[in-house]
Amino acid sequence: MQAWGFFLLIMAPLIGGAAAIFMKKSSLENYKLVLSFSGAFLFSVSLIHLFPVVFDNNENAGIYVLAGFFIQVLLEQLTHGIEHGHFHQHQEHHKYIFGLLMGLTIHSFFDGIPLSDFKMLEQSHHSLLFGISIHKIPEGFALASVLLFSNYKKLTVVFIVLLFSFAAPAAVLLSNTFSAAGNGLFSIIVPMAVGSFLHVSTTILFESESKQHFFGWKKIIAILLGAGISLLTI
Ligand SMILES: [Zn+2]
Ligand SMILES: [Zn+2]
Repeated sequence: MQAWGFFLLIMAPLIGGAAAIFMKKSSLENYKLVLSFSGAFLFSVSLIHLFPVVFDNNENAGIYVLAGFFIQVLLEQLTHGIEHGHFHQHQEHHKYIFGLLMGLTIHSFFDGIPLSDFKMLEQSHHSLLFGISIHKIPEGFALASVLLFSNYKKLTVVFIVLLFSFAAPAAVLLSNTFSAAGNGLFSIIVPMAVGSFLHVSTTILFESESKQHFFGWKKIIAILLGAGISLLTI
C-alpha cells in the first residue's frame, strides 16, 4: 500500500473522533445516515471485490468466512458494537473500556489485513481502501463518544483514538512482511476478515433504532448511495 493509503487509513478514525468531540448532539441523525452509507458501501465492496477473490483462492473459504463472522460476534461482546458505530450514552466502567479497546484493536487488525500487498487482491485495492476507511470514520466517532461519555479528558480521548488509528495500518505492515511467505496463510485470514466485514456491515444496516426494522426514506437513500457508489468501482 502506498503512503497516501496509510494516511487515509489513519485519518479516517481521527476525523470520526474529532467529529465526536466537536459535533453538537443535534446532528446525531446525520451521523446515522453516514453510518448507513458506510455499512452499505462496505457490504457491497465485500461482495463485489472480496468474495470472488476469496472463493477463487480457497475452496473452503466459506468455512473461514463463517469463522470470521462468529469471531466478530465474540468481539462484539467486548466492544458492545463500537465497530459498527454503536454507543450508549451512559457511563462505562473502566474495566469495560479496557475490554472495549482490546476487542476494537483486534477487530481493527482484521480490517487492515485485506489491504496488505499480496497479489490476489491487487486489482480491487482502491475500492477496498475506501470501503474500509469510510467504515473507520464511525468507528472513531463511536470510540471517542464512549470515552467522552465515560468522562475521560479530551486530551486522553484524542490520545486513545490516535493510538487506535494506528491499529489497521500496523496490520497492513505486519501482513506485508508475512505475505512474502506466500498465499497460503492469506487464503485463510482474508476470508475471516471478510466474515467480520459481513457481520459489521449487515449489523449497521439492520440495526435500526426503532427495533422494528423501519428505515425511513433518508436512510434508504443513504444505503442506495453506498451500494451505488461501490458499483461504480467495478
Ligand atoms: Zn449495535
Ligand atoms: Zn472496523
